[in-house]
Amino acid sequence: MTHDHRRFQRRALLAASAAGAAGWLATTGGVQASEAVSGSPSVESESAVVRWSRQVPIRYEADVAVIGGGIAGVSAACAAARSGARVVLVERFAVTGGDLTTGGVANFCGDTKGQGEVFDAIVADLEKFDAVAPYKAAYPEQSTRVFEHHVLAFVLQELLLRRGVKLLLHTQFVDACANDAGRITACIVCGKSGPEALQARQFIDCTGEADVARRAGFAVTQGRPEDGLQLPMSIHCFVRHVEPRDAGPPLPDGWLQPIQDRQALPMTSVWPNGPRGNSLKIKIPKFDATDTQSLTAAEIQGRRRALEVLHYYLQVEHKPWRYDGCSPQIGIREGARVVGDYVLTVDDLRAGRAFEDGIARGLFYLDGHKPDDEKRTYILPTDQRKVPPYQIPLRSLLVRDGANLLAAGRCFSADQLALSSARVSTTCSMMGQAAGIAAALAAGKHGDPRRIDAADVRRILVERGARLEL
Ligand SMILES: Cc1cc2nc3c(=O)[nH]c(=O)nc-3n(C[C@H](O)[C@H](O)[C@H](O)COP(=O)(O)OP(=O)(O)OC[C@H]3O[C@@H](n4cnc5c(N)ncnc54)[C@H](O)[C@@H]3O)c2cc1C
Repeated sequence: MTHDHRRFQRRALLAASAAGAAGWLATTGGVQASEAVSGSPSVESESAVVRWSRQVPIRYEADVAVIGGGIAGVSAACAAARSGARVVLVERFAVTGGDLTTGGVANFCGDTKGQGEVFDAIVADLEKFDAVAPYKAAYPEQSTRVFEHHVLAFVLQELLLRRGVKLLLHTQFVDACANDAGRITACIVCGKSGPEALQARQFIDCTGEADVARRAGFAVTQGRPEDGLQLPMSIHCFVRHVEPRDAGPPLPDGWLQPIQDRQALPMTSVWPNGPRGNSLKIKIPKFDATDTQSLTAAEIQGRRRALEVLHYYLQVEHKPWRYDGCSPQIGIREGARVVGDYVLTVDDLRAGRAFEDGIARGLFYLDGHKPDDEKRTYILPTDQRKVPPYQIPLRSLLVRDGANLLAAGRCFSADQLALSSARVSTTCSMMGQAAGIAAALAAGKHGDPRRIDAADVRRILVERGARLEL
């Protein structure tokens, strides 16, 4: 085991102990927050703790609260609202869209038809702005549709508002108040107004890192089984095409380690990014998206690598490109995955398995980039990556330890290889839509998502244009 791996595992242990130490007490008219924070890695002491306690006003109430506004969260919120639920969506950044916008991905993979009415509405709006590549054929013949991510950010916010979703931007989910039965009674969120409580009958964790489940102390898993290493991140570096005299900027002498030849490049994909623009997607492996310091290090490394790679294209290939900056956030392929009532496995995908409670359809190949090197390497050889269409069961969105918590998007319950396919945006949207419908049904009845009939969710999905059959 390398030093890096030992440090990685130690950080994972620290993060796990901090999550397990959370304890919250609900009171009337406010929420009493009380927590022991243990083992701040910066003081390198695993025994140091700070206790704090605070009354937090209950500022928001909803039938369904969606935490995290990526494609899964937006789809969940829109679907729940369409079902008549009062919905609050909490997003820590200025815009929704997650990996697709702040992460700079700007490309739909999988099938962009048959995902259901929420995804259809998103694509239709992008088309009105002439900001998405045309649909040519069903997957796999046409496996990608690039779009303009700034336009997507606008389209998503307008869709949420049209549906009547209460949107809280610049608002970080901080903690969950869960009782002994695993029912989340409130979430603590924090924006510029300070800590506030959000109460809801149903919660949906769409944070990518399973923040809600982790803070509630529910079981999660991450990375590959042997050492917890997650699928690698990638930074997106944007360039615009200019007259050769305006190309740059060059790396000043003595800064970083400029790349001088193609062999030395990390995995770098050059994507379209609007007219006269490109996006360089650069692999940044071996960081942990659930660990504050590791994620910070990944962002720093990402921006350094971006300038080193850019130097190569400017100085060696003489591209007439001007640096337009990096995506505000590094792209995260894998954070933490909840442990659900069912854990979807790669064998399910390989078998093209259908489930009685199948609520989404996946078909993308097993796109598992190797977690421990920066070259274009994959966990599986090429001939083992293809999978037939498969279903995702509602049970893999039901958080096993939670009474009223679902998870959708890249933190749903799956093994790492199953996630490597199901993480594409189209499938995340389908999962989100299903979670929103299920949560709205549960909120409208008894508040128990396990007592709703999965057949009802499936029926509504199909009525709303989702293709579930394989
Ligand atoms: C480099 C890269 C390239 C990819 N390429 C493609 C591609 O070509 N095509 C494709 O279809 N898919 C691609 N994917 C996959 C796809 O983009 C993502 O898996 C998918 O968009 C994830 O959606 P999500 O909603 O589950 O998570 P995210 O998009 O990560 O959304 C999570 C949201 O939750 C918010 N959040 C997180 N924690 C908190 C908190 N504590 N409080 C408040 N808000 C919070 C985040 O800010 C974010 O908006 C790529 C991914 C990466 C990283």
